[in-house]
Formats: sequence, C-alpha cells, structure tokens
Amino acid sequence: MSETRDQILKNVKRVLIKIGSAVLTGSEGLDREIIQHLVDQIAALTRKGVQIVMVTSGAIASGKHRLGITTPLKSIPQKQAAAAIGQGRLMRIYSNAFAKHGIYVGQILLTMSDLTDRRRFLNIRNTLSSLMDWGVIAIINENDTVAIDEIKFGDNDNLASMIANIIEAHLVINLTSTPGLFDRNPTTSKDAKLIPLVREITEEIEAAASEEGTSVGTGGMKSKVMAAKKVTAFGIPYIIAPGKEKDVLLRIFDGNELGTLFLPMSEHLNSRKYWIAFTLRSRGALGIDNGAKCAIVEEGKSLLPSGIVTVEGDFVVGDPVTCIDREGVPLAKGLVNYTAEDIRKIMGLKTSRIEQVLGHKDYDEVIHRDNLAVIRRSRKQREKN
Ligand code: GLU
Repeated sequence: MSETRDQILKNVKRVLIKIGSAVLTGSEGLDREIIQHLVDQIAALTRKGVQIVMVTSGAIASGKHRLGITTPLKSIPQKQAAAAIGQGRLMRIYSNAFAKHGIYVGQILLTMSDLTDRRRFLNIRNTLSSLMDWGVIAIINENDTVAIDEIKFGDNDNLASMIANIIEAHLVINLTSTPGLFDRNPTTSKDAKLIPLVREITEEIEAAASEEGTSVGTGGMKSKVMAAKKVTAFGIPYIIAPGKEKDVLLRIFDGNELGTLFLPMSEHLNSRKYWIAFTLRSRGALGIDNGAKCAIVEEGKSLLPSGIVTVEGDFVVGDPVTCIDREGVPLAKGLVNYTAEDIRKIMGLKTSRIEQVLGHKDYDEVIHRDNLAVIRRSRKQREKN
C-alpha cells in the first residue's frame, strides 16, 4: 500500500460514490450482476462503519433499452421521457440488491435550482444527514424529467461534486468505464499511461483528459477532472476508478493502487464558500487591477471599489459575480454589496467617496471577504506543491 493512499484512507468514514451509466449498463440494458456486485461491496463497507451516499446514472440508458431503442436519443424531451421510464427501474434494482443485505435505500432527484437556493440546499443536507443516521443509502440522480439547460447540472460528475460538499464527504470515488486518468487519450494513443497520483490539477492534467463521454453516459474524462478540481478545492480526496473491476471498492479501501487518486488541496474553501464558487451561477464579471488581485488572492482581503476597472453584466445586490484579472482569468467569485449600475459609478474610487457619489454607503467593500471565494490558487499554495 502506498503511504499516501494509506494516510488518506485511514480516516475515511463518509464516502460519496458516483457510478456512471457505462458501468451499470451492458448490451442487455441495466446489468443486474454488476449492480449486485457493487451493492455487495457497499454493504460490506457499511458494515465496517463507513457512511455511503451514492450518485448514480443509468435512468436514461435503462429507459431507452426498455423501449427497445438502439439508436441515440435525439431530442431532450425523448431523453427526459426515457429517464421517466428508467429511473423507477433503476431504483427497483438497487432496492432489491440492497434488500439482500437488509439495507433500505432512499431516492433523491435534484436539479441545480434545488442547490442554488440556500434554504433548499440546507434542507437537502438535513435529509441526507437523517438518512445516513438511519443507515439508509441515499441514491441520488439528476431529476432528468424536469431539468432544462438553465437548471441542469450538466452531468452526474458535476452533481456528485456538489453532493460531496453537502455531506462533507471524506472521499469521493467516481466509478467509470476506464481504469482512471491517462497521460493522453487511451483510445487514440496506444502507449498512453495511467496516472496513479495527481498532486495538483495543472493545465497538463486538464489537457490529458479528453472531452468525449461514452455512448450511454454524459460526461467524459474532462468532466471528471473538472469535478475532481472542485472536490479537491474543498479539501476532499478524489479517486477515479474502474467500476466493472472485481471488488474495486474493497480493494480501494484495502489501499490498492487502483485508478487515479487526486490529492486534496491543503488550503481549501469552507462549505459556504464552496457553494458560492461552484454551485451559484455567476451573473456578471468585475475586472480588477493587480493590486486588488494580490489583495484578494494572496492576502485574503475584501474587494474594494478602488481595485475595480471594468464591470460586465447587469446584476443586483447579493448576486454572485466573478472577479477576473486583466487577462480575463477568473480569480474569485463572490456576492456583491452593490448593483452593477452603482459599481460602474464608484469603480476606481476610494471608499471614502462612495457616499458622495451614490448618495448612500451601505458597505465599504464591493464584495466582503466572507462572501468571496478565491478560486485561483495563491502563490503560497502553488509553492507548497
Ligand atoms: N442522469 C442521467 C441518467 O440517469 C445521466 C447523466 C450522466 O451520465 O452524467 O441517465
């Protein structure tokens, strides 16, 4: 067992396991044997005292197979209808598989708008926490039948990264149809090598991950690496592993070098800042100068009007807005204390002039540091790795 894996797995008591459609489905639709095998392993881990929450795909693929459709579904309503058929089936198979171990399951279907609303976000957290206390396995999927573009997570890799934040998981395991992350696309390069450990998600790592999903799943390796980036920014380790491999979960917990392990960032966001950074959709952008960049990224300070050079978008007080540097690189995301219209009037000015220009001054800061999540790593953090 490698020392790094050993260190990480030692303290894992709450895990989020994401299972992709390509793992769960075969030529005959949902593959009961694979599902039972995964469930047997989850049950074994549960008996050892590990709390597990699952995010699982497979509804659309299952519905499609049920209808005997072999060609890709073209329209969104068709996919949504297939999910309506497949979701119940997916749950029934899981429920029967867990029943063999005397374990109950609970279904949770979510859209993005359930998580951007802070109150609903907290309600979901309470529900998940009660299910975990009762030893019930929560099985989560996107509410495909109602989700349209604006309220979609996009794919279950992204949904799983949000849930990891909600349950404050100690580890995320993303089970997929490939052995892990390769240094280049293994389907096109025969000599591609598996990367067992990623200390930091650099541009090279992002470039190594290809875009394409499988014929049944939505996210490709790219979406898994983007999800790993979010999860590790919250201080949670992330493993991409081959879901069809025998005893994959048990072997991971035994410390076997399976798949790719992404190490968590040493300095990471708290739950609320993670929610601001990765769950809320940005309503605009504030271009900031180098002084402000240094103050917020390196020193953890608030954003003042004096450091702002451009304002994009039309947002109101409390909206999430991205701070970008002069090259347009996103640095941070935060909730603004002033409207876009007001910021256009006070940008570049000292705080002492706010009242004079606007006729009121509710805050010194345009974004207070408590509401500002830095997404660009500081020099100190970069040097540590
Ligand atoms: N929610 C979709 C389903 O259950 C899958 C989305 C994905 O593959 O990421 O079929």
